[in-house]
Amino acid sequence: MEEWQEQLRNHVNTLEKLEQFINVTPEEREAIETTKTRWGTTPYFASLMDRNDPNCPIRKQVVPSLKERENRYGIPNYLVWKENRANEEKRPDTIARQYHDRIAFTVVNACANYCRHCFRKELVVDKSLSLKFDLEEGLRWIREHSEIRDVLVTGGDPLLLPDEQIEYIVRKLREIPHIQMIRFGSRLPIVLPHRITKGLLKVLGGYHKVPIWLNTQCNHAKEITERTAKAVYDLLTCGVNVGNQAVLLKGINDDKKSFQELHQKLLTIRIRPYYVFYCEPAPGIDHFRTPVEKGAELIRDTIRGHTTGLAQPMYVIATNIGKIPLMPDYYIIKKDEKEYTLRNYKGQITTLPNIPE
Ligand SMILES: *Cc1c(COP(=O)(O)O)cnc(C)c1O
Ligand code: SF4
Repeated sequence: MEEWQEQLRNHVNTLEKLEQFINVTPEEREAIETTKTRWGTTPYFASLMDRNDPNCPIRKQVVPSLKERENRYGIPNYLVWKENRANEEKRPDTIARQYHDRIAFTVVNACANYCRHCFRKELVVDKSLSLKFDLEEGLRWIREHSEIRDVLVTGGDPLLLPDEQIEYIVRKLREIPHIQMIRFGSRLPIVLPHRITKGLLKVLGGYHKVPIWLNTQCNHAKEITERTAKAVYDLLTCGVNVGNQAVLLKGINDDKKSFQELHQKLLTIRIRPYYVFYCEPAPGIDHFRTPVEKGAELIRDTIRGHTTGLAQPMYVIATNIGKIPLMPDYYIIKKDEKEYTLRNYKGQITTLPNIPE
């Protein structure tokens, strides 16, 4: 058995196992004993939690909370609405579509860490939504839709599939003439970096006309270790591009220090920040949500101008009509026929001529 499989076999998903890593509070205990949802993480990720601090940013993503029962703002049947599963275009369960040229291809509903803030929780954590994971049906649909040039393989976590199945998906997609690129969405480089094995690198790596991009999810600098750094280096070395899609989470990364540190630290391990998502209105995750403006404010106050330009993600809200950017808009103060008046991150002002068309 490989180390990553060992990690999954020892999945930390009971109170007894959790107690080996942290001093469980009475509230956490009650939440665990009463939750009907899937929860749990790898021993590796569990070992990064603070033993005594229930506010540890990793702990809050791992351990169920009583607050998950509250639901004032969540949209019922969220994923059906969000992924346009109930509209006029008939599609296989595996295909989520919001755009003309690209789709999300959902191939599995298991994860290594059942993130408490998961917006796909109805499928992954609560399991109130079940989909038919018919790979062949999905591949046929993609083959028949020549306008699709980019396939985002997602889940759950697609890298939990065995190497042979990942190899099959990649090979079948690359055989389709209109597919120009393949993307994987996987949290494993963060929660189970052991999964980036020689075998997997052989499947994903190597020069090919149809490149592979991988976006992971890291929400706090504390999630980054030497092991993550090595896994990312190995992926890059074999030709897989690595980006990050963070979620803006109240009490976890919505303060200036955590937000800046996260983005700086990602670059030190060669991960390029791609998106920061507003925490979506799925049911039972109200307690993770900030006001919408918060993300733009954090980019304005800690990233743009304050640190390396490569550290800047695009802040977006994912909706049923696609992702909508919500970047800060402080910099154009005034615009008239003659000139633009611009402001920088320090509040300094400059003007540039406005060139007529
Ligand atoms: C997020 C998403 C994509 C990819 O969007 P990009 O902005 O290109 O990264 C594609 N399809 C669906 C359904 C998505 O949710
Ligand atoms: S890894 Fe992604 S899909 Fe899985 S529980 Fe976390 S947020 Fe949800």
